[in-house]
Amino acid sequence: MRARAGRLPAILAAAALLAGGCAKDDYVAPPPVVTGDVADAAVAADTLADLQTAIRDGDGPAAADLGADVTVRDLLTAVVANAEALGLADVTFRYVTETGRTSGADAWDGQVAVTWRVDGFDSTSARIELPVSFADSGATIAAVGGAGARLPLWLAGALDVRKDGKVLVAVAGDDAGGEPYLAAARRAVAQVRAVVPGDGGLVVEVPADADALRQALDTEPGQYDAIAAITAPVDGTEAAGSPVHVFLNRGVYDDLDRVAAQVVMTHEAVHALTDAVAARRAPLWLVEGFADYVALRDVDLPLTTTAGQIAEQVRRAGPPKELPLPGDFDPTASHLGAVYEAAWLACVTLAEHGGERALVELYDDVLAGGDLVTALREHLGWTEAELTAAWRDRLAALPGVAG
Ligand SMILES: [Zn+2]
Repeated sequence: MRARAGRLPAILAAAALLAGGCAKDDYVAPPPVVTGDVADAAVAADTLADLQTAIRDGDGPAAADLGADVTVRDLLTAVVANAEALGLADVTFRYVTETGRTSGADAWDGQVAVTWRVDGFDSTSARIELPVSFADSGATIAAVGGAGARLPLWLAGALDVRKDGKVLVAVAGDDAGGEPYLAAARRAVAQVRAVVPGDGGLVVEVPADADALRQALDTEPGQYDAIAAITAPVDGTEAAGSPVHVFLNRGVYDDLDRVAAQVVMTHEAVHALTDAVAARRAPLWLVEGFADYVALRDVDLPLTTTAGQIAEQVRRAGPPKELPLPGDFDPTASHLGAVYEAAWLACVTLAEHGGERALVELYDDVLAGGDLVTALREHLGWTEAELTAAWRDRLAALPGVAG
């Protein structure tokens, strides 16, 4: 049985649009503050340069020396280990500005620009502005991260990193039992590649809990609490080639049975491996429906399970007049499960009409910015009205509807 929660996670688009759309990457420096005697930008810059070097050299003790107390020393030691395990490249820390908040005579909060890239997986570097508290006149670091700012997983604490070929999984915690996540991710990539050829890799990040997920993605409290997984730009930007990873919400994902968890992982892997996040113009029914098409392709579940919610809706009210609209995919929308099922069946309808290859070509074309109407005609010989009619017939014929 597919857990109800198994339907909810299929929420790339809203997640991706949120994570990427609100320009949080464009950190606006606060108005110039009256520079007190506290902040010493030059010393802070040196400290950050030392941290950057320690990470590059894999020198945990050198990084630990930059911590103001034992907590931060442990954190910086873990950061060095994380960077090494993840294979981070292009790691830079650059002091940007003070934020005007000081503590005592020699401590202040500043803003630091950070870049990094998972070598072999991310084609460009992620870039964020990170709040950092400095102490000892800038010679040490007292805290990393802050409210209302993105805190990447690798800067938040120790990670259990597992890598296998084209798959990398990073789980918060020292020895956090990453094996099942790695197995699901590996299978997800194989399932995606069986339908959509390519050689890009998949990075899956698993924060400790919903709070840590919220910090990693800088989302509002509660927004994704019911979502099992999100595919999102690591730094919130949608610039072409900007790294996109899959983020799991353990509170939901870990409760799924194995089949549902695999469907979630594969669904998200489709988004990540086909650059769906960057495809702002593609209709969501195609983006989400195609992800479920791939995720459910090798799953042996009856239509009463995979299309039970839309069947119930059609039985009561008849087939929807038109394909699902973008607003229907809002994570807080009602009947979300039925919407995803309807989108999935639109893709099933396309594949049944023109073959899987035609569906994939249509998806590729439209994701690359092509016009849906043109792509439908070219790859399937259909107008949008013909697709809609065939899809409505398909819905009307679902078990439980037609009897
Ligand atoms: Zn999705």
